Amino acid sequence: MKSIPYFFTLFLLAVGCEPKTMKEQPNMIQDSHSFSKPSEARVTHLHWVATIDFSSKTITATATWQIAAAGDAKEIIFDTKDLSIEKVLLDNDQVATYKLTDAVPTFGQALAVGIERDTKTVSIFYKTSPDAEALQWLSPQQTAGKKNPFLFTQSQAILARSWVPCQDSPSVRFTYDSEVTVPSNLLALMSASNPKTINHTGVYQFRMTQPIPSYLLALAVGEINYQDISSRSGVYAEPSIVDTAAWEFADLEKMISGAEELYGKYRWDQYDVIVLPPSFPFGGMENPRITFATPTILAGDRSLTSLIAHELAHSWSGNLVTNATWEDFWLNEGFTVYFEHRIMEKLYGKDYSEMLALLARQSLDETIEDLKTHDNYADTKLKLNLKGRNPDEGVTDIAYNKGYFFLRSIEEKHGREKFDRFIKDYFNENAFKAMDTEGFTAYLKNYYQTKYSISIEDNFLKAWIYTEGLPADCPQPVSTRFEKVNAFLQQWKASGKLDPQQTSTWSTHEWLHFLKNLPDSLARSQMEILDNFGHFTSSGNAEILTVWLTNAIRYDYTPADATLEHFLIHTGRRKFLNPLYQELIKTPEGKKRAKGIYRKARPNYHFVATNTFDKLLN
Ligand SMILES: [Zn+2]
Repeated sequence: MKSIPYFFTLFLLAVGCEPKTMKEQPNMIQDSHSFSKPSEARVTHLHWVATIDFSSKTITATATWQIAAAGDAKEIIFDTKDLSIEKVLLDNDQVATYKLTDAVPTFGQALAVGIERDTKTVSIFYKTSPDAEALQWLSPQQTAGKKNPFLFTQSQAILARSWVPCQDSPSVRFTYDSEVTVPSNLLALMSASNPKTINHTGVYQFRMTQPIPSYLLALAVGEINYQDISSRSGVYAEPSIVDTAAWEFADLEKMISGAEELYGKYRWDQYDVIVLPPSFPFGGMENPRITFATPTILAGDRSLTSLIAHELAHSWSGNLVTNATWEDFWLNEGFTVYFEHRIMEKLYGKDYSEMLALLARQSLDETIEDLKTHDNYADTKLKLNLKGRNPDEGVTDIAYNKGYFFLRSIEEKHGREKFDRFIKDYFNENAFKAMDTEGFTAYLKNYYQTKYSISIEDNFLKAWIYTEGLPADCPQPVSTRFEKVNAFLQQWKASGKLDPQQTSTWSTHEWLHFLKNLPDSLARSQMEILDNFGHFTSSGNAEILTVWLTNAIRYDYTPADATLEHFLIHTGRRKFLNPLYQELIKTPEGKKRAKGIYRKARPNYHFVATNTFDKLLN
């Protein structure tokens, strides 16, 4: 896969030859989470020159943007947050006039730069704040190696503006190249072409030739090694972790080719995974060419790699066809969960992927119930209303799992073969474009009508997309493997018997199903019996540990106290922190304990996590 894909040539034509026309304008949908007005003036290419300074926790940089503007455009608007702007130049040497609006919480400041009719580039000289929300600066103590500091970014949803002045809307795409200077003993990586070995000058060059939206801008700097898995995939991690990671992700190439067989060629050349230190707030982030991943997926038995299938699937859904606004977030995530399950089915069989589907259904039902009781029932619609709100509030199971079941219901209604052909064409025809919910439904209806003479009913779409809760005919996965777990649970309840022979082949998912379906109330002695049987308190598997520790809090199982505190302090992944803190604060003593632990843990968390838990625990 070393050849240059055809769209690259097209792209050179579009950007290289006519930077100042609006002809190539993609479908521009006004995005309420960005100050920019791309329909008047937009960016097309970024040249970023930056120096990373760990001692002051700042990046000093120049962002030179090639722009395309309408003939009468007088200004171009960028999103910024907590940046100190030193100066702005037009076409490299002409001092520009600019103004920064007052800061708005969550959204930052608009930077409006005056442009002329023939302005080709805008260069912004600036410095980031030590508190820049996208950047997490780790001390050596917070890394596995304990010798060197580490930096990583998390730009999604609207945090890119805190480290690069940009048009921070998923509907605006651009290519980029960059030169980044870091301490000479560290390696730098971006969502671009990447080095495999350290360069002792500390200066790294990057190129991203496929156009991306700003939320996919990414940078990681640290003591990092690389290990190949195939000719187009591999793993980056701290030296002490890289072998473990390469073992865990041994199926990476199989996943890429499996995905290609399903929905078309992988269009980003290289696919690598970097395993970050534990404070990374998400499971994974689908930064193009290099997925950023939490070390909590290194379970030691390859049982949590569906997360990698998920991030890989984003190379099509999300990175290639991108939600136009964060209110269409389900288009990124629902499609990706669907695709992820299909990859897992292809690699490991339907009885495996149906476990994932059933877990998704259970988690979705819980989320809907939770949003209903907390007066957020409107947020159970697939199409969200996030105006004036932090788009992070849309990151719930609804986008992921309701989106998944919506797509699965189309598959089940009209057949898999038809649906697969539809998805493949949908990705191809909309590649490197933004898509909103209305554009998607129009495409879907038209496709099924034209190709299959099938009419997709408006009522069906309305029930899934614009209505709260779940339609009555939502698909209900059936998992034979989970039915065995249910029988095992029944047997325990009836006879008190726990037979290790019956659980010897269980995967993480079966254990999770077991732990999530324990009796409604457990005595301390029963918790002890369970722990002796499954060794849950000492589990190295973060998924299992989280469900177990939630039970431990609920039933006051004190032997797990130390593990709970250690886990909360040393893990930054919000998915695990949330249920544990939520369970703790249900009682006054628990809340006191949660606050005490949070005080110690907070310095280890990324902004994305502290932003959630400051509200919960203060
Ligand atoms: Zn995702």
